[in-house]
Amino acid sequence: MTELKCVVQQYAWGKLGTKSLAAKFAARGRPDDFCINGTDPYAELWMGTHPNGPSMLKGMGASSLADHIAKKPDMLGEDCQKVFGDQLPYLFKVLSVNKALSIQAHPDKKHAEKLHAERPEVYKDANHKPEMAIALTEFEGLCGFRPLSQIQANLKAVPQLTEAIGKDLVEALLKSTKDNYGPALKNVFTALMNCPKDALNNSLTSLKSEIDKKTCLTGTERLFQRLWYNFPGDVGCFVIYFLNLLVLKPGEAMFLGPNRPHAYLSGDCIECMACSDNVVRAGLTPKLIDVPTLCEMLIYHCPDDDKVEETFKFKAVSDSDNSAVYNAPVPDFSVAKLTAKKGAAMFKFPPRKSASIVIVTDCHEEEGGIYSAFSNDGQEYVKEAMIKKGLVLFLESNQSLEMTASENEDIEAYQAFC
Ligand SMILES: [Zn+2]
Repeated sequence: MTELKCVVQQYAWGKLGTKSLAAKFAARGRPDDFCINGTDPYAELWMGTHPNGPSMLKGMGASSLADHIAKKPDMLGEDCQKVFGDQLPYLFKVLSVNKALSIQAHPDKKHAEKLHAERPEVYKDANHKPEMAIALTEFEGLCGFRPLSQIQANLKAVPQLTEAIGKDLVEALLKSTKDNYGPALKNVFTALMNCPKDALNNSLTSLKSEIDKKTCLTGTERLFQRLWYNFPGDVGCFVIYFLNLLVLKPGEAMFLGPNRPHAYLSGDCIECMACSDNVVRAGLTPKLIDVPTLCEMLIYHCPDDDKVEETFKFKAVSDSDNSAVYNAPVPDFSVAKLTAKKGAAMFKFPPRKSASIVIVTDCHEEEGGIYSAFSNDGQEYVKEAMIKKGLVLFLESNQSLEMTASENEDIEAYQAFC
């Protein structure tokens, strides 16, 4: 087991200064060489071996986690190595979102291989990128298509959508039923995404001035205004009429499988994903957008009216007294939430069959807590080290942890493994 020093990515959409949990964790975890500048954005803390932000081992010169694993790959665990080779298969992150991230979807494995072969300069790796977000603070995101009845109601209530999409396509979707809406929804969404810039801008501006005159706004209209502030005239301001707005409470999660349209909007979360960077973007971003690929690959599926939450949100399932697992429906990763209650004796957490990464997300500001680590034969080899917020630990397969919280506050940590 070793302590990690992790890279913070300063993308423009990150929360500013000490408002960013990603920055706060980095500042507590690596006080020697990281200092928060109050006006800078801090978007993501990366825990893993991805070459764009590799974690380093603390107190071991300039050795990276990737080199450490390369020297003794069997620390990954036998099953993990069999499936994924000699590399850590997941990337673990903390995200602090101030401004919306791009509307995007991730290709499945086969499609990722094809995109990479055809356009390696845009699609830099051949891996899929399923991802899971677990809220640390209230976390908002757009996820999947809305129920058909909601999309139909929005098309009727907002004539500017028909201006941008075209009357025939909208009418075809309005006439569709639960059994046959797929192709009509795809046509409507594709036409919206391909609307010429001038026409799009006219329709959006007309809707904007209508909304600005209202005294009582719906949730979608308030979101329209917020998005407009950062992305005036962007097609994303229309896309919110088609996608579900999900609000996760701390501890709630959403999983984004391949070809599922989504965009994170605000809040802090733990994120875990397959180690990949493959994103197909289509709005709310200054980065390259690839509308034809996105419109072709999306799953045009609308959940039933009362099934939105159960389709996209999920909770952790207990796997011991003090740990609960968010089981992603992919083999690449799982995440567990670990809790050590205040004022109690130590809590021992189950060892994992693969290498894992643990980050402490909450504990008492000054008193923190203590931890010990055990090798796979039960020998204690780290004795009563200090816990503080932002501590990041890498554990080899079958190593285990024990934590004792202070008298006054629980310890909460998240652990990625596969
Ligand atoms: Zn994504």
